[in-house]
Amino acid sequence: MHQGDESHPVVDSHLIAKTSTQRMKPSEHIDNYYTATRNEHTAYPALQAHIRTDVVIVGGGSTGVSAAVELAERGFAVVLLEANRIGWGASGRNGGQVTGSLSGDAAIEKQLRQRIGSDAAGIMHTLRWHGHEIIANRVQRYAIKCDLRRGHLHTAYSTSDIDALQSSILRAQEAGLGDQVAWLDRTQVHQKLATPLYYGGVYNRYNIHLHSLNLCLGEAAAAHSLGCLIHEQSPVLSIDYGDTPTVRTATGSVTANAVVLAGNAYHRLAQHRLRGLVFPAILGNLATAPLGQSLANQINPDNFAVYDSRMVLDYYRLTADNRLMFGGGTNYSGRDIGNVAKTLRPALEKTFPDLIGVDIEYAWTGTAGIVINRIPALGRVSDNVYYAQGYSGHGIASSHIMAEILADALTGTLEHFDLFSHLKRIRLPVGPRTGSALVALAMQYHHLKHWVGPR
Ligand SMILES: Cc1cc2nc3c(=O)[nH]c(=O)nc-3n(C[C@H](O)[C@H](O)[C@H](O)COP(=O)(O)OP(=O)(O)OC[C@H]3O[C@@H](n4cnc5c(N)ncnc54)[C@H](O)[C@@H]3O)c2cc1C
Repeated sequence: MHQGDESHPVVDSHLIAKTSTQRMKPSEHIDNYYTATRNEHTAYPALQAHIRTDVVIVGGGSTGVSAAVELAERGFAVVLLEANRIGWGASGRNGGQVTGSLSGDAAIEKQLRQRIGSDAAGIMHTLRWHGHEIIANRVQRYAIKCDLRRGHLHTAYSTSDIDALQSSILRAQEAGLGDQVAWLDRTQVHQKLATPLYYGGVYNRYNIHLHSLNLCLGEAAAAHSLGCLIHEQSPVLSIDYGDTPTVRTATGSVTANAVVLAGNAYHRLAQHRLRGLVFPAILGNLATAPLGQSLANQINPDNFAVYDSRMVLDYYRLTADNRLMFGGGTNYSGRDIGNVAKTLRPALEKTFPDLIGVDIEYAWTGTAGIVINRIPALGRVSDNVYYAQGYSGHGIASSHIMAEILADALTGTLEHFDLFSHLKRIRLPVGPRTGSALVALAMQYHHLKHWVGPR
């Protein structure tokens, strides 16, 4: 069993914010299912020079590489600096479920309605499922091999969740999904999944699941093919703000017309503006040994990706080689989960009794950025230093939408950027540790409600 190593950089980048002379030791990819089955081992060189460019992006996860593709496609000279390896962070560790699209959509729509009235519905209509479109088009355009599959179930863990799930069908249909979404009752869900759990669920044929590290690596390769310079193992230590800002690593620097901060929960840059906005939560994930076709068909014959309706939820799917990838056990306090396989095994076996005693080959954690009201944190820390982060565990699609909005803004189309950057996020006047503890308390409250509420 491989236990991926959630090593130092959260702490290191925090240190770096305090002292730009302190060096951060870059890491290789952690050992997990994704890295064991990646299409390529990247070896983009570390930054060793001073470069002048149009846009420099800090962070090579979904947000950073997607922004790099968008900008390179529009003819910008782009430099992407990644502290470790492309997809080293949450983007190479997640559940691979591309669902619902925009994190915090209900809160976003409510605020937009107050500001722009009925036009809000149109904007949400365009954006809510747009991440799926960007990803599917990009995978096709650049022939990215990432095991992309359609089909998802959002299951009712408790009878009290049924109404909310059923009304989400109406909203999805209004957003143009039509008969791609449907309600499955308890019996129908049990025909699709060999589990005793759940009281029904929303079937969504449009939602995607995929190999998220291969998506990220493929997008980076696409950006590179369009001329983007990529430097891995190049942690940014400091930013000099000004008309043409400069970001500095230990061995080089990049001066640009604009900077995009895309380090999400792993960076501590620009804390004078970003402190209290996004808090780290640790999520656990695992992959069993290959189950074989017959057992895989038995537990999940249509190969749906699944998550349940709880606030602190379990999420799972089959991989291309018929393993069960199973995640959960989110620790909103930001503290380590410890032995991930041991922590998640009871939930896995409760979900699929056919898998009691199954071998777990990989288990790992990753850090996601949580915003209290779940609205992605998009904005500027100065005239020309932008950021996009905090997708509250739903970042694959959201990061792609935010990257497109950022690229639009840098091209002069500010409509969506202005709308999003002016949305109210809840900012706590505390550091990451205290903030995460408060988020954990709130989540514990929701968790308890599930245990004492109707089942
Ligand atoms: C276990 C887990 C499961 C998840 N499951 C899902 C899911 O199924 N579906 C979904 O939609 N979302 C999921 N998420 C959330 C999703 O993975 C994230 O929202 C998304 O990947 C965020 O992408 P990002 O590029 O913003 O951040 P990251 O992927 O974390 O990338 C940030 C990058 O910035 C780099 N960096 C940090 N500081 C610096 C610096 N100073 N200089 C240079 N580089 C720096 C880091 O090394 C890192 O590679 C999950 C997250 C986790 C952890």
